[in-house]
Amino acid sequence: MTLNDRSTYLPYPTPAHTPPNDSNIPLTVIVSSRAVIFDQDNNLIVSPATLTLSPQTGTIISILPTILPPTSFPPNTTYIDHSPHLLLPGLVDAHVHLNEPGRTEWEGFNTGTRAAASGGVTTVIDMPLNAIPPTTTANGLKEKIKAAEGQCWVDVGFYGGIIPGNALELLPLVEAGVRGFKGFLIESGVDEFPAVSSSDVALAMTTLSSTPTTLMFHAEMIPPITASVGDDVQVSLPPLEPSGPLTSYSTFLSSRPPAFETYAIEEILSLSHLAPELQLHIVHLSAIEAIPILRAARDRGVKITAETCFHYLALASEEVADGDTRHKCCPPIRNSVNRDGLWSELASPNSVLQTIVSDHSPCTPELKLLPDGLSRGCGASHSHAREIKGVNGEIISKEEAEEREKGDFFASWGGISSVGLGLPILWTAASERSEPISITDVVRLCSVNTAAQVGLSHKKGGLRPGMDADVCVFDDKGEFVVGREQMLFRNKVSPYQGRKMRGVVKETWLRGQKVFERDGANGGFVDKGGLPREIEKDQIHPPIMPLRLTFLGQSVELRSISHLFYTPPPTLPLNPCSKSQPIASDKNVLLHVASLTRFGEKPVFYVLRNR
Ligand SMILES: [Zn+2]
Repeated sequence: MTLNDRSTYLPYPTPAHTPPNDSNIPLTVIVSSRAVIFDQDNNLIVSPATLTLSPQTGTIISILPTILPPTSFPPNTTYIDHSPHLLLPGLVDAHVHLNEPGRTEWEGFNTGTRAAASGGVTTVIDMPLNAIPPTTTANGLKEKIKAAEGQCWVDVGFYGGIIPGNALELLPLVEAGVRGFKGFLIESGVDEFPAVSSSDVALAMTTLSSTPTTLMFHAEMIPPITASVGDDVQVSLPPLEPSGPLTSYSTFLSSRPPAFETYAIEEILSLSHLAPELQLHIVHLSAIEAIPILRAARDRGVKITAETCFHYLALASEEVADGDTRHKCCPPIRNSVNRDGLWSELASPNSVLQTIVSDHSPCTPELKLLPDGLSRGCGASHSHAREIKGVNGEIISKEEAEEREKGDFFASWGGISSVGLGLPILWTAASERSEPISITDVVRLCSVNTAAQVGLSHKKGGLRPGMDADVCVFDDKGEFVVGREQMLFRNKVSPYQGRKMRGVVKETWLRGQKVFERDGANGGFVDKGGLPREIEKDQIHPPIMPLRLTFLGQSVELRSISHLFYTPPPTLPLNPCSKSQPIASDKNVLLHVASLTRFGEKPVFYVLRNR
């Protein structure tokens, strides 16, 4: 199932007995006894598979649900057998904060995307806040793209932000290719990204009502009457009436009750009639109390989905030690009953939780106010530094810094670092449950649906012919302990440090090229000649203009020419025809369509490049 209309796709079944065999084009073939692919009915299955990739175009040429031997391919083919490891589509992490430019010391494109690549993540979508400038204007987006250029190890897309007064920037940002918008209903913690009021939300909804985008919310809002004023999201004041020490996690947790989330969601829903066609989305849902509200809204036709995060599924408040601010995020990690509730919602057939993301939101170790025992080895600039930089650039002297209480959950920055660790975190947590979710569920939640959420279903998130050849090779039985070497993000501060994980990403392939190999030379980053990958060029999701044509008496619909071309092996018997029909030209290359084979009763059509 997809999350929004613009991301529907046509399933293109795989030819059953037609391995590509064109000796002019060097191919890469990856096989395994287990791969997560689609069956004829478009269900995710685990099957033996032969993936043929074109390093030239960066796309998947074909997928066969069987293992072909190397002798089936020309001698210059790169052939890799990964059995029994799993071949998965690269993960699409639809919620990360990369903070560059402006707060690059927190995280940058180079370190953030290296961490992603090391964990089988091949696409990250960057949140509009915590870099300076924020992505709230078309110029801000340009700055982001400029900062990212030449630094990215995986493909990167960008969200835009809604803040008070930027309504005129929203349509230009859609034009410029942002993959959705995010706004805060409560203070965000950074000065340049203020919260929106209900009238700002209403204006954003009407402005975006007929655009193919998604409007997303940080759904926490202080109900009108509350004992707590734990107000800012990331750096908050203690509640007026603290229920305990500020270094105790339970004090922090009770300052941000589930009512913050449900109240915010009710507020958003109360405005949803203003844009009935606009896709709405709740980022990082934590409180299970919000689930029935979202379900009821969806049942009455509101287009709203929600994501949850690895940390809400893997961690629980009872287990957070006093002062361990590595666990601070907003909304907070709640108790294990809440965690169980999120898992059962994920397992329900019609879950409102359609995606799982990292919400990787790092900062410098100093801003986490980690107690001494926890800050060792995390890269903090320590005692010799004269001064440190606060969240909003303010300079804090050494004396002032030392006066701040270590382990204060209210004064420390809220955000959890985990980009690139998501797959093992989820797999470990799943395997500890009595009813674990399957690897096909993981692919659905972290690849297929996250790609759909950001309008990239036509090229990301699934192993299908014509899609980007983004592959994660996963040893689902391997184990490791999270140490500095596994945390490739910039600041080595994460609640997962020291935890034993199940599931090891062995290799990551991006658009037909291997970018990461566990235990390989150069830290495992390979085949790049030291040159980081270019940023995702296709910022704008091309509008879906189905191409209809009649071919051999049948009406055929093609969504995208460029993603479907297929070079037929010269020996391939074109069945039922040996002739093809020109349909379009693209940069002087004439494209043809032909039916190559039949898959059951369905004819399979491919677009062929005329050589
Ligand atoms: Zn976030």
